[in-house]
Amino acid sequence: MKKKVTKIGVLTSGGDAPGMNACIRAVVRTGIYYGMDVYGIMRGYTGMVENDIFQMESRSVANIIQRGGTILKTSRCKDFFTSEGRKKAYDNLTKLGINGLVIIGGDGSFRGAQTFSNEYDIPCVGLPGTIDKDIAGTDFTIGFDTAVNTAVEAIDKIRDTADAHDRLFIIEVMGRDAGYIALHSGIATGAENILIPERKTDIEEVIKQLAEKERRHKLVNIIVVAEGDEFGGADEIAKIIKARLPMQDVRVCILGHIQRGGSPTCFDRLIASRMGYSAVECLMEGKFNVFVGMVNNRMYFTPLNEAVKKKQRISEEWMKIVRILAS
Ligand code: ADP
Repeated sequence: MKKKVTKIGVLTSGGDAPGMNACIRAVVRTGIYYGMDVYGIMRGYTGMVENDIFQMESRSVANIIQRGGTILKTSRCKDFFTSEGRKKAYDNLTKLGINGLVIIGGDGSFRGAQTFSNEYDIPCVGLPGTIDKDIAGTDFTIGFDTAVNTAVEAIDKIRDTADAHDRLFIIEVMGRDAGYIALHSGIATGAENILIPERKTDIEEVIKQLAEKERRHKLVNIIVVAEGDEFGGADEIAKIIKARLPMQDVRVCILGHIQRGGSPTCFDRLIASRMGYSAVECLMEGKFNVFVGMVNNRMYFTPLNEAVKKKQRISEEWMKIVRILAS
């Protein structure tokens, strides 16, 4: 018989993502609705180790659904990698009687939760909060839609200036070693080429395409590069293109951290609310040590020990569409 979960802690860990606040709100309010005490844990696992934990009320999460970042703050916690650190965390939780945890973060945070729940009898439920969308077992992650829309808005603006000056812009987007933000934002902005880590970058092919466009006097070009592209990012690509095609007026724009911030999109608020609610239900129903995803518009639960980075398989058809539509 599984123990009844009556006091839960919620934390945000690893890289921040827009929609984390909407998710915290859902966890807090669902927990309270079902009669649980809910505690906010500050700065990810650091708050567990350092006992930075406070009880939350329904009002504690008022007016945050539309805010980016995370009111609980986040961190990368070195101490949690050590058994001493995790023991301290466990002692702090048990002092307060916390007997269930909801962890909003990426695959690293899930690995931490898995390690902790193997050692101690505190069930954990993970929620995928990452702009990179690089976790297997879910079609969406909280924050991806907002990040990709921010990238689209920025690239649209850059296209205006590219068009005014007949320029080639190489735009670098985030995603760590995943190319989802680049792929989605590149397709949505009509990029001439999209360079992602999941597909080997053939620089000769990129140059050939640009040279062919130069012959046709098509000088306004946008190339979207994922930060994790093995070829070396926007600066590196620009250097080579400038050397090989001196006629091209090449500029680089690295979008950077603007992609992490800002008000979450409706879609991110919806999935954050749904997943947050579902995480509390998991703890109530004894569905322990899983993370909550969504597959084909249904909640989908994956054991934390199977939480792995998703390697994107890019269909060749997508890349063909990019080439045809950008001609
Ligand atoms: P993300 O969750 O965004 O992937 P990280 O990979 O940085 O971010 O992980 C966040 C935190 O999770 C780490 O700083 C650490 O505190 C904890 N963590 C990650 N992996 C482990 C592990 N194997 N054992 C214990 N804690 C871990």
